[in-house]
Amino acid sequence: MLKVNQMDRPKILITAPIHEAGLTLLRNVAEIRTASPSQALIKENLMREVKDVDALIVVRSREPVDEEVIEEGRNLKIISRHGAGYENVDVEAATKRGIFVTYAPVNAKTVADLTMGMIVCLLRRIHEGDRLVKSGDWYRGQRLSPPLMGVDVYGKTLGIIGLGRIGAEVAKRARGFDMKILYYDVVKKREYEEELGVEYRELDALLRESDIVSIHVPLSKRTENLISERELKLMKKTAYLINTSRGRVVNQDDLYRALSENWIAGAALDVFREEPLPPDAPIAKLKNVLFTPHIGGATKDCMRRMSLTVARDVIKALRGEVPEYLVNPEVLEIIKQRGRPLS
Ligand code: NAD
Repeated sequence: MLKVNQMDRPKILITAPIHEAGLTLLRNVAEIRTASPSQALIKENLMREVKDVDALIVVRSREPVDEEVIEEGRNLKIISRHGAGYENVDVEAATKRGIFVTYAPVNAKTVADLTMGMIVCLLRRIHEGDRLVKSGDWYRGQRLSPPLMGVDVYGKTLGIIGLGRIGAEVAKRARGFDMKILYYDVVKKREYEEELGVEYRELDALLRESDIVSIHVPLSKRTENLISERELKLMKKTAYLINTSRGRVVNQDDLYRALSENWIAGAALDVFREEPLPPDAPIAKLKNVLFTPHIGGATKDCMRRMSLTVARDVIKALRGEVPEYLVNPEVLEIIKQRGRPLS
């Protein structure tokens, strides 16, 4: 009897290890398969592994869950993205097949913390200072005083591109630094204008006026290469660009030229066109850039929160309930038309 029950348990494929808290919830209701760290990135692996599973948890933002992969998942009821961006999931293809697509937009404060950290680090040259001390160069050249000249963070004008969950959290934090805050978004956010004291600008005006430009839009056809040569040339020569959204929102070749030819003063980048960033990429050599390896949401607290969010929604979908963080509500109609019961 037990054997039959075990065989009846739904199957969940998780493309990389996730926090134990979410895993524990999932293990109570399903058979779990976790791909090895490098395995599921490749489409062929995904196509093979997805064949008999009921749920797919997509841990990395670059795993290609396209129409072909979705077609192979004949039993799929839910595709859940363990993160806030879901541009790597073909939502339309999933919807046509009556599959829920969910995400875990519970990392805004965590990403905003990193963004502020990058701004302070870049302008005050903290990372360079750390290297100077550890290398012994400060000791050897101690007559140079002060050794690293930065610029003030407080009082500067911060331009936020995309005032959504993360952008708004960045604005909140920036207020504490007495910054003037501008924003550009496809949607005017009147409630934030009052609550956070932010001012709307068209993109070009924001680029011209800001001392620091921070990007928080999702990657889409409209935002790919949103910041290219023309936009970089609008920025002040003394300005800094911060990108913790997606690498392809910025044209990386143009940014390399902007930084190496001093069109702008510097940049802090958590995301790249190709990840991991190859060490021989020209931009990787630049001194006026602060790099982090896509760690926007990488805290233990955030990983726990994301794993629980994803797990709860997957369990709901497997029980025939509507998940909370649904990306494609239009799927409900399709599920209804197919006569699948939903509660
Ligand atoms: P969100 O949906 O809450 O906010 C995005 C905002 O961008 C919205 O206000 C939207 O109106 C605006 N927008 C969309 N298209 C635009 C355009 N063409 N021009 C101007 N504004 C536009 O999303 P969020 O939770 O704030 O996350 C933003 C992005 O950050 C995610 O999509 C993801 O790609 C990225 N992210 C990165 C990390 C990381 O580890 N570095 C972690 C989480 C999220």
